[in-house]
Amino acid sequence: MFAYLDSAATTPVLQEAAEVACNVMVEGYGNPSSRYPIAASANRRLTQDRATVAQALGCQPNELYFTSCGTESDNWAIRAGAARNRRKGKHIITTAIEHAAVLETCKQLEREGYEVTYLTPNANGSIDLADLAAALRPDTALVSMMLVNNELGTLLPIKAACALVKNRDRNILFHTDAVQGFLKVPFTPKALGVDLLSISGHKVHAPKGVGALYIRAGLNLPAYLTGGGQERGLRSGTEATSQIAAFATAARICKASFNADRTHMAHLKAYALAQLAEKAPEVETIGQGEAPHILALTLPGYKAEVLVRVLGDNGVCVSAGSACHRGKPSHVYAAMGLSKPQRDGAFRVSFDRSTTQEEVDYFVEQLVKAKSTLFPSMS
Ligand code: PLP
Repeated sequence: MFAYLDSAATTPVLQEAAEVACNVMVEGYGNPSSRYPIAASANRRLTQDRATVAQALGCQPNELYFTSCGTESDNWAIRAGAARNRRKGKHIITTAIEHAAVLETCKQLEREGYEVTYLTPNANGSIDLADLAAALRPDTALVSMMLVNNELGTLLPIKAACALVKNRDRNILFHTDAVQGFLKVPFTPKALGVDLLSISGHKVHAPKGVGALYIRAGLNLPAYLTGGGQERGLRSGTEATSQIAAFATAARICKASFNADRTHMAHLKAYALAQLAEKAPEVETIGQGEAPHILALTLPGYKAEVLVRVLGDNGVCVSAGSACHRGKPSHVYAAMGLSKPQRDGAFRVSFDRSTTQEEVDYFVEQLVKAKSTLFPSMS
């Protein structure tokens, strides 16, 4: 038996998306910038795919710029947003629980002379608006706050945070990393009020290596990659037409089943919690985790790394914190002020539209088994 419960790390590519990608690679391989019929049809397809992803996100096609991943979208938004407002000031506000794609970019900007305020989360793993209000300064150039935290599944109050920032000073740019929120929780960039928003394909059943950045219409940003002038001059580089086609296909399919998928994931989450309460009551939940697909758990006294390895050896894929940490202790759990045994025992279970109840049953069965063979002090 095999149970893939790490959908927040990546999701399986939909068959339809893989087939479209293969078709574009083999048949529709024209360069959208060239000037003959197969290029023109590649360009038409790109236009259509942009409109499809924009429709799934709830924005205009001319507000959507394709990138190579969510990390690139985050880097671009933060660097270009800070550069655009450099005359306003060199202060950036973010949170201590962002993905490394945001945190490391902010740290790099600190080395380049920017000052960064890292808001610490409350006990629920969210951010208090009062802390954001207190951090705003006349020289604040940019605020970057994620929509859904990838380790906890908490929903940050982006709409209220953005309104607060814009009421104080409408020139401050607001970016949100919505990589874990896209097609998992309902929102549109416009309803949130943000200027910049990042998404990634492989979290929504498209292949790895494609993402997008929403840039609010009318916001002029400096180019991220210079060259042939693709993506309306802002992100040069021949468009990854096959991945973009797959991204559009996956986004269209996931958008069509959005409500049903959310209900399915929320059911699995509630079911997993009920099963754990009955069969492994020592397992604690961390934070509230309103997002339907992420469940942050801890088995205090055990080492999550060992637990995850033992589960993996038995065909159960879960993660000890975010996949991007590669064994480093989670900065999110540390920022939340969890005790050391809680931090050490923390792991994440996450679902997608294709996860089954049998997979959850198998995970619980294997967790109970692993727990009985691993003594806390020896793990
Ligand atoms: N932001 C968040 C919240 C994520 O969870 C991830 C991926 O785990 C990323 C950004 C990076 O996205 P990508 O893997 O497409 O670079």
